[in-house]
Amino acid sequence: MPQLAYVNGRILPLADASLHIEDRGTQFADAVYEVCAVMNGQILDWQPHLLRLRRNLAELGINWTMADGPFTLQARRLISRNGQRDCIIYIQISRGTARRDHAFPGDAPANLVMTVRRFDFAQRVKQLATGIKVIIQSDTRWGRVDIKTTGLLGNVLAKQAAREAGAFEAWLLSGETVREGSSTNAWIVKDGRIITHPTGTSILPGIARDSLIRLATAAQMIVEERPFTLAEALGADEAFLTSTTAPILPVVAIDGQAVADGRPGPVTRRLGELVWNEVARQTGWRA
Ligand code: PMP
Repeated sequence: MPQLAYVNGRILPLADASLHIEDRGTQFADAVYEVCAVMNGQILDWQPHLLRLRRNLAELGINWTMADGPFTLQARRLISRNGQRDCIIYIQISRGTARRDHAFPGDAPANLVMTVRRFDFAQRVKQLATGIKVIIQSDTRWGRVDIKTTGLLGNVLAKQAAREAGAFEAWLLSGETVREGSSTNAWIVKDGRIITHPTGTSILPGIARDSLIRLATAAQMIVEERPFTLAEALGADEAFLTSTTAPILPVVAIDGQAVADGRPGPVTRRLGELVWNEVARQTGWRA
């Protein structure tokens, strides 16, 4: 079956799907996006993703009139037409197509595109046993990274540096503070306390982050939302990261230095159980 994409109400083969070259997403990164996990044909955490998307559209004043009901139906229709049970859906809404001018166009309707790609979530469960490595990069991004825009060049360059260093992720440093990863949220564990940077304008409020805080709190674990330094991370008992495509992965090395004994720790393992049980509860998916 050819891979299908969605463009402004039409579903068509990915190879034929396109936007006008004066789409403002291309010229100004004047666009927001979401990536959702689809497991067993069910979208994980759909309501929180929808809420974040709406908030981002409102922050940028992008006029998006489709109601949640029809929008959800369009997303589900693309997923089922693609026929993938385990995949990620990418959703992008730009301010529209208009003659290039920085100021907002008066009457251009927003452009909605969606793509679906197969994803191997079982690989993420296997990685719980081994963990991954991160490197440190300085955070060169703009001042409103809480808005999930397609302006990701700082993230792209940091991720590429990680790839070239043989690491899974780059953690972004501002002064002494570790903010988050290039496409994941960053966590450490010290003396049983689970620590992650607070929301605000300097991190992306991850859906997986939010979900983990809820699950950990319900399990009587202690979560501290506060900035932590690189020195704290290097001296942590455990470290891990979260995102939609990596719901939880242990971090076993930071910039070439082992975290504790260099193996995934018990708190992260326990959180892994909670996270994947929640996935199973919502979607019926099991590794
Ligand atoms: N931080 C950044 C910079 C990201 O790009 C992402 C992925 N969207 C995340 C954190 C994790 O967010 P989520 O849990 O919603 O995937």
